[in-house]
Amino acid sequence: MDCQETQQHVHEYLHNSLSEAEAQEITAHIANCDHCESHYDMEALVNSVLQEACAGDEPTEATVDRILTKIRSIAAGGEH
Ligand SMILES: [Zn+2]
Repeated sequence: MDCQETQQHVHEYLHNSLSEAEAQEITAHIANCDHCESHYDMEALVNSVLQEACAGDEPTEATVDRILTKIRSIAAGGEH
């Protein structure tokens, strides 16, 4: 699996919707690739913030937008 494929599947990976073999390939790739690891960290952060914010309910689009904006500002700040 290359970087592009890995990043395309990170979301499914976080939601456990990949096959075991696919999940293992992604785990192996992330372990050896800093670029994909940081992408994964960001997705994992988004995922955990969304779950906290929604506490089990389906998030509305407005909620998702607000949270993503917040996360992006955190991410942008972290690079300076
Ligand atoms: Zn990679």
